[in-house]
Amino acid sequence: MKNRALKFKNDRFKRVRGSYSRWLLIFCEKCKKPLLTYQKDGPGILKRLYIDRIVNPEFYGKDLVCKKCKTLIGIRVIYQKEKRPAYRLFAGAIGKQIINADRMLWAIGR
Ligand SMILES: [Zn+2]
Repeated sequence: MKNRALKFKNDRFKRVRGSYSRWLLIFCEKCKKPLLTYQKDGPGILKRLYIDRIVNPEFYGKDLVCKKCKTLIGIRVIYQKEKRPAYRLFAGAIGKQIINADRMLWAIGR
């Protein structure tokens, strides 16, 4: 499990965003706890996290809450344009860092 290389999901959502992806480590801006690993497709700022792009942990819950400091990070919504479940993020609630698939932090959320 530790050394498993992750592959990007390659689907219509990725294609409409230019078929370019990278892995992000998303952390709580307030207490800096790593929250999840995320496949970001295409350019632009992160306004929402699509549930199908969260790779670790695989399920987070109804709303996105920091397990350490309990800050509410995002609200679960359906992104209507694509009928796609997502967390709508509060401005400034998260920090992010680009990571390589081979350095994935599998221990997040455990
Ligand atoms: Zn926190």
